Amino acid sequence: MNPTTPECDLLITGGAVVTVDDRRRVIDPGAVAVTGDRIVEVGPAADLDSCRAKRVIDAAGKAVLPGFVDTHQHLFQYLLRGLGEGLEIWPWLSDFMWPVTTTISTEEARIGAQIGAVEAARSGVTTVLDNHYAPTDLTSTLAVADAIEEVGLRGAVARGMTGELTGMAAKHGLAGDLFRYSNREEVEITRAAMAARPPESRVGVWPAPLNIIYVSQRLVADAAALAREEGTGWHSHCSEAANDPVFYLEEYNRRPVEWLAERGLLGPEATLAHGIFLDDREVDLVGESGTGIAYCPISHQYIALGVMRLRDLRSAGATVGLGLDGGSGHRLDMFACMKQAVLLQRVHSRSPVESNGEEAIELATRAGAEYMGIDAGVIAPGKLADLAVIDQSGPHHAPLHRTVASIVYSTGPADVTHTIVGGEVIYEQGRCTKVEEAAVIEEANGRAADLVARAGLAPLLEPWRTAPEPRRTERGA
Ligand SMILES: [Zn+2]
Repeated sequence: MNPTTPECDLLITGGAVVTVDDRRRVIDPGAVAVTGDRIVEVGPAADLDSCRAKRVIDAAGKAVLPGFVDTHQHLFQYLLRGLGEGLEIWPWLSDFMWPVTTTISTEEARIGAQIGAVEAARSGVTTVLDNHYAPTDLTSTLAVADAIEEVGLRGAVARGMTGELTGMAAKHGLAGDLFRYSNREEVEITRAAMAARPPESRVGVWPAPLNIIYVSQRLVADAAALAREEGTGWHSHCSEAANDPVFYLEEYNRRPVEWLAERGLLGPEATLAHGIFLDDREVDLVGESGTGIAYCPISHQYIALGVMRLRDLRSAGATVGLGLDGGSGHRLDMFACMKQAVLLQRVHSRSPVESNGEEAIELATRAGAEYMGIDAGVIAPGKLADLAVIDQSGPHHAPLHRTVASIVYSTGPADVTHTIVGGEVIYEQGRCTKVEEAAVIEEANGRAADLVARAGLAPLLEPWRTAPEPRRTERGA
């Protein structure tokens, strides 16, 4: 059979194509034809192989799937990889993350974002929402967007806005020097960054009041209004700690998501990180409005926050994507994230049918793309050609009975052979194609050493930290 597309720019053929399309087809052996930045045809390899392609990727023994969308990141934190391990949340913030936040320079943030972006490309990620919050002057915000785009990723820098110190933040001990701009300055800087990187940019800028609980309601409303004006999404942390809604209720006499709903701020353009501690009414409000929620299973476990109500949120209609949430996972690995997304739900519900590998892939691809408002996340004609190709010939995949199970449970970033964004191959044969990885690593190492010294993090460098003492209580007591 002749393909309906006799010519194309790129043909990926011979692999198992996991489309995540409306019928959830897995075509094996399948092929994907790309012209320009779009997918033009998808089908059995035999049907597409006569397509005259400028370039062919032989995907025999491989899987082809939509590129992953990382819906909540803080890329600069990868400069601190390995530090802050095993601390309580309070010293983790006060002795680690806040000193970094108030010390980090533009160049350090830029290279931190770039090494994170390189790792993302190596993990099959094609789109990232980088919630960048230090430093957030205009130059730094744009430098971070440049650093991500140089690697070739798609996405947005969600510029963290704190505004004036609120009563809530002061009462609960948040460091005052995190609040360095007035509300008005926050909006002006964000607006200028958005003007420099309009919504059609490969990496745009979104307003991101840093945390619904601790910044002012006024700033949240202004940020959402700015997003509406400019036609972008907006982003915020919401109810990630058990106390968040409790404090909010005490201060404002309503729960955070109730307030967002009252003010008409929910909807597909609202994307909230975590949303762990939502009550039934809030779950309904998020669901009815099609609000985005970033599920970050590794950080939820790492900082021992809690378990997001995945089943309830998806059943209610929320758009749930997966996020890696910066350095708290130490490693930008979407395969680990998918696996943990499933396992955490299972252990919490004590039910092995609570979630599965297919759901994890949906979250990481089509739901993530919906959350970002991009025309990607499925392999179908007309969609953006954002793709990942994964080698499945290694011993950890053999025998390969089920491609999908192998992707979620057996695959690691080292198995990714190609990452493609808008038809452009940004990673192949073990290297990023658009930046010199060795130079990025060298610069990141040098700048990180400097930052660690300036931020006073030397005590965190101890080579071995004492393991927790055995409990003296009797077993079973
Ligand atoms: Zn976060």
